Amino acid sequence: MDHTQHSSPTPGRRTEIHDGDVLTPHPEVVAGPSSAPSIRRPAQLPSRFDVPVSALAPLFRTRLERIYRCRVAFDLDLNTRATTRVLGGYYKTRRLVRVYVNDTELGRRPLEELFDTFLHEVAHHLEYTEPTSFSARACGRVPGRMHSRLFWKILGEIKYRWVILQRQAAAARQP
Ligand SMILES: [Zn+2]
Repeated sequence: MDHTQHSSPTPGRRTEIHDGDVLTPHPEVVAGPSSAPSIRRPAQLPSRFDVPVSALAPLFRTRLERIYRCRVAFDLDLNTRATTRVLGGYYKTRRLVRVYVNDTELGRRPLEELFDTFLHEVAHHLEYTEPTSFSARACGRVPGRMHSRLFWKILGEIKYRWVILQRQAAAARQP
C-alpha cells in the first residue's frame, strides 16, 4: 500500500488510475507452430501450459531481468479470476502489474500470451516510473489517450530485446 505522491500529468485524478486494460488479444501473439484454431484446449495440455500459476510470477520476473532492469520495483499479481476481454492492468498508485491468467471460456491462457500481457503492463510501469530512460522527451503523454507514443516506444524496445534474446537462445540450441 504505497501511497506516495505522484506528479501526474493529469492533475485532479487523484484516485487510482487503472488505464492498463488490454481489451483484445494482441494480434502479434501466435498460438504456436502447429496449432489449429482450436476453440477449447485439450484436457492434456502441451508443456507450455504446464507451468503452475504460482511459478508464473518468478518466471516472468526472471525473464524481464534478462532484458531490462527496472529502477522502481513493482508488485506483480497473476490473478486467477476468469475474464472475458481484459487481459491485464497496471495500477499506477500501487505500482501493481496484474495479469489475468484465465479466460472465461477457454480456461488458462497460453504462457506466451500471458507474458506478452505482462510486458505490456510493465511498459506502463516504466512509462510512469522512468519516462526518461527511453530518451523520449518529445513523447509526452497525451491526456485522455490510453497509450502514449512513449508507451509504444517502451513496449517496442523491451519486446525487441526479448525477441533478440530468444533468437540467441534458439541459435545456441542448434546442433
Ligand atoms: Zn495498455
